[in-house]
Amino acid sequence: MFIILCHLGCGILLFTGLGLPAALWALFLYVVRMLATTAIYHRLIAHGSYQAPRLVWWLGSLLAASAGQMGPSWWKAHHQQHHRHVDSSNDPHTPLLPRAGWQGFWRSQAGWLLGESFHPQSLPADIEADPVLRLIDRLHVLPPLALAWLSWWLGGAQWLGAFCLSTTVLYHAVASVNSVAHLFGEQPFATGDASRNNGWVALLTLGEGWHNLHHAFQGSVRQGITIRRGAVRLLPDPTFRFIRLLQHLGWASRLRQPSERALLARSAS
Ligand SMILES: [Zn+2]
Ligand SMILES: [Zn+2]
Repeated sequence: MFIILCHLGCGILLFTGLGLPAALWALFLYVVRMLATTAIYHRLIAHGSYQAPRLVWWLGSLLAASAGQMGPSWWKAHHQQHHRHVDSSNDPHTPLLPRAGWQGFWRSQAGWLLGESFHPQSLPADIEADPVLRLIDRLHVLPPLALAWLSWWLGGAQWLGAFCLSTTVLYHAVASVNSVAHLFGEQPFATGDASRNNGWVALLTLGEGWHNLHHAFQGSVRQGITIRRGAVRLLPDPTFRFIRLLQHLGWASRLRQPSERALLARSAS
């Protein structure tokens, strides 16, 4: 419902226009909340690709929830199901089943949230055991409403429209990892699924589009890696840079990365 409302809320900008301050607000909200989704929800909470103090988990979850990405238990539950059953009938958002083509694309981009697969099969025990994360999960609707109100308070209808635009684009960028990055792009690693490295998706999601590497090495804190002419090559990965920044500040540790030997052993060629 919240994401649908944000789509409709973009219409506000047709009446107010989008000035530079409001556009910068939209961009700021996009980058901060995308990093919370990719660095905290995905690489930290879902995959434990590095370790961080509890405060990072909590603040990151509040920010990711404010983007309409739901709570940490819901997010991790669905993501684990995706990896466990990737591109099979139990994958909640594969673009390939039960039908491929446009119907599959629509299902993976948005349709899966409108059916039974919206409800996770089970919730992750580690997140449920943390009372703060559990509270954020159950009250996940409050952070986006608070941020919408803050936008309105700061700059009126135009800034509320900028919030809606930022949230709508962010939603589709994250969803494109599920849809586009399982349909279009390179497969430098042998994963046995349809995951692909897609540079456009990586640009929009600050590094999450290198999805074939991610399916080959789910615990890797860096996703921007490929194989070219038999050698390991690094690709732009702003989320990884952000986590390295957290590490310099003492807020991230024990970053996990596959060895060159392991990377070459999974090469598809
Ligand atoms: Zn995937
Ligand atoms: Zn993942």
